[in-house]
Amino acid sequence: MTYQTINPYTNEVVATFPDATKEEVEAAITAAHEAFLSWRETAFSTRTAFLAKAAELLRADKRRYAELLTLEMGKLIAEAEAEVDLSADILQYYADQGGSLLETVTVPVAYAAEGEVEIVSEPLGVLLSVEPWNFPYYQVVRVAAPQLLAGNTILLKHASNVPQAAAMFDDLFARAGLPAGVFQNLYLPHELTEYVINDPRVRGVALTGSEEAGSIIASYAAKAVKKSTLELGGADAFVVLKDADMDKTVDWAVFGRYWNAGQVCVSAKRIIVVDEVFDEFLAKFRTGVAALKTGDPMDPKTTLAPMSSQGAADKLAGQVAEAVAGGAKAETLGDPVPSVGAFSQPTILTGMDPKNPSYYEEFFGPVAIVIRVKDEAEAIAVANDSPFGLGGSVFTKDTKNGEKVARKIDTGMVYVNHPTMVKADIPFGGVKHSGYGHELTNLGIQEFINKKVIDIVDINAAF
Ligand code: NAP
Repeated sequence: MTYQTINPYTNEVVATFPDATKEEVEAAITAAHEAFLSWRETAFSTRTAFLAKAAELLRADKRRYAELLTLEMGKLIAEAEAEVDLSADILQYYADQGGSLLETVTVPVAYAAEGEVEIVSEPLGVLLSVEPWNFPYYQVVRVAAPQLLAGNTILLKHASNVPQAAAMFDDLFARAGLPAGVFQNLYLPHELTEYVINDPRVRGVALTGSEEAGSIIASYAAKAVKKSTLELGGADAFVVLKDADMDKTVDWAVFGRYWNAGQVCVSAKRIIVVDEVFDEFLAKFRTGVAALKTGDPMDPKTTLAPMSSQGAADKLAGQVAEAVAGGAKAETLGDPVPSVGAFSQPTILTGMDPKNPSYYEEFFGPVAIVIRVKDEAEAIAVANDSPFGLGGSVFTKDTKNGEKVARKIDTGMVYVNHPTMVKADIPFGGVKHSGYGHELTNLGIQEFINKKVIDIVDINAAF
């Protein structure tokens, strides 16, 4: 495998980086462990000062950081700037928390003469963070900000198509005052992943990516008896009930499915519409999708970016062909996409049903599946008929009923009248094949913490 920057807008190779050797990996683990022994002893104020500085540096140079994202994975420059802001928000969120999320608590204990024991929160050690390319900064920060605040140290294995975004963190964090070794980017080849996880100094692994990669990495962790968290794929249901505010719902559906060129784990991948409003929804949705403008992602007039790589575009085209072979209807919309670059023509798939072998797949690009259902009950049943359980949304003017429907959807996150949202102060995580564990907020920081019981017993107390 090769770590390479290939501009998806032109498909030109911009830069290539060598894989880390086994010796380099070994040295990085040693450095991370040694750094851990002192980082864990630092005051929270030292760690929060670093996080706040990193947030400040990102914001101060937003355009430059955003341009790197657009270069490496093709996202629209406005979306790239929003990602820089979101990443800074997450760093600042944890800077603002300080040690409050990890304070020692005392719990009453009936047996103890003292009547209580302490539970202290301690970092585990070196963590491996394996991250995907679709949000090259945000995904890294989701793990790094809380875990560096907690006192853990991190080895980053980023996706092979965003090597410069990965290296950016070494530079940013050093400029923000992080001591050497506390965070290191590694161009880790797949064949050395298990070696890293097996090292006794490495205490956990957090992966965001596909189900396939997740199950491989989690099996390495399980064999080595290490903690893992998995943030995997999704096929979010976007449920449209008969009383939905149709025009606004359609706008959210177009945005929810096509932002980041459809390459979002919580994209509105399955749009489930009740029969009474199906025809109206589909007609308006077609119009909205057809209006998307493909082109240069640096041009503010472009509203649909190229995909992250030619390989991703080819894979998606293959999935659409298979869905059609299985009985679905594919409708392509909008002006023809540029002939050069990793573009994919916006597509709507209808006529998908569970007999179609593609029905349960995740389509990671600008392809919307629109499903007609009889009523609300069937909408919930179809929403839950998925191996995934990441996000989801329900559109209705009756928000009380929207909440009832949300509670019946078997996923980690459901929004009423908004596609699944991503914010610095909302926890993120899924169930079923979308993985386990959480990122962000208090839930995220607790994932790699030793909740250690300390009980101080009076030696003179009765034996
Ligand atoms: P991917 O192929 O699974 O890659 C994700 C990361 O795993 C990359 O760094 C990749 O490195 C690494 N990887 C893959 N196989 C590996 C192995 N055998 N050993 C070590 N590392 C390995 O996923 P992707 O296609 O890039 O990303 C899209 C997927 O991520 C979608 O399914 C999407 O839904 C999911 N995702 C989930 C979330 C969430 O929060 N739940 C967020 C974003 C994306 P290489 O690049 O070197 O292969």
